[in-house]
Amino acid sequence: MTLDLPPVRGTIIENRSLAGLTWMRVGGPADALFLPADEADLADFLAALDPAIPVFPMGVGSNLIVRDGGIRGVVIRLGRGFNAIEVDGARVTAGAAALDAHVARRAAEAGRDLTFLRTIPGAIGGAVRMNAGCYGTYVADVFAEARAVTRSGEVVTLTAEDLRFAYRQSTLPEGWVLTRASFDTPAGDPAELEARMAAQLARRDETQPTKDRTAGSTFRNPAGFSSTGRADDVHDLKAWKLIEEAGMRGARLGGAQMNPKHANFLTNTGGATAADLEALGEDVRKRVFQNAGITLEWEIMRVGEPADK
Ligand SMILES: Cc1cc2nc3c(=O)[nH]c(=O)nc-3n(C[C@H](O)[C@H](O)[C@H](O)COP(=O)(O)OP(=O)(O)OC[C@H]3O[C@@H](n4cnc5c(N)ncnc54)[C@H](O)[C@@H]3O)c2cc1C
Repeated sequence: MTLDLPPVRGTIIENRSLAGLTWMRVGGPADALFLPADEADLADFLAALDPAIPVFPMGVGSNLIVRDGGIRGVVIRLGRGFNAIEVDGARVTAGAAALDAHVARRAAEAGRDLTFLRTIPGAIGGAVRMNAGCYGTYVADVFAEARAVTRSGEVVTLTAEDLRFAYRQSTLPEGWVLTRASFDTPAGDPAELEARMAAQLARRDETQPTKDRTAGSTFRNPAGFSSTGRADDVHDLKAWKLIEEAGMRGARLGGAQMNPKHANFLTNTGGATAADLEALGEDVRKRVFQNAGITLEWEIMRVGEPADK
């Protein structure tokens, strides 16, 4: 669909395939992909854009399945004008397009601990939106403030109260684009931080299919489950274990597979479509429910429209 779009200083590409912009390498086109030159360009564009046109900001697509019919409206992807990283005492500020790994490394060099970001393959906008975390630390633990451009083009500062972080989620309103975020970080010895990050990378490579086309954990670990109903018996269940017990480790549908190395990693083994991936995920949910009576919730975001719509 051709959209009537305001003029920009950055780049607009119509009918642009999104598959190559995601880790899963699947998905149809965006009606338009906008790569803003800087925050002012983004704000002017959103202020002038017909409010009826949907806007979807994407990072590096490491938590997404874009459906085969693509995304209606404008997809916004931040690039060069949004990846500065600054360290000022305890405060680390990064553009929303800066990769988590780069931010962690730059912080460590300056003796600041953002090591938990080192192995998360996304960018800072996605990290804040998703309250990314691992090894016991989440964005919410270090978050100071963020800047965003609202859907109507206003530049605003957001606090943790505005974003109400929860497990892998925040309340950023639809169509708002994060442009940068600041974190208040603990101090650490650079060499020790570097060694910790190297150990985390090695641990990831050992336990997860980090080189495959995935979007990380497919389903959330079901929380607060009690097999006896007693309050002192509440424990978290591991999604991978439930999937394995339902006989779905390694299960395939078209080019999609539940990864043999880690059963909670839905994988594009080559020629998968988004429909293959989503259908296999739904099949897993059904089998886990039949086997254990537990409904798995998707952690991967599925966006856009199916091919036949
Ligand atoms: C191998 C692998 C391992 C992973 N391990 C972890 C892990 O340990 N912990 C973890 O938390 N996640 C993990 N993930 C998932 C993923 O990396 C995170 O969710 C990451 O934060 C997503 O960032 P992104 O830039 O790729 O965002 P995308 O996947 O592109 O988008 C995710 C969401 O963020 C929104 N978004 C992105 N950028 C912006 C922006 N600038 N403004 C507003 N909204 C925005 C999108 O609209 C979308 O809603 C893993 C993924 C992979 C592939």
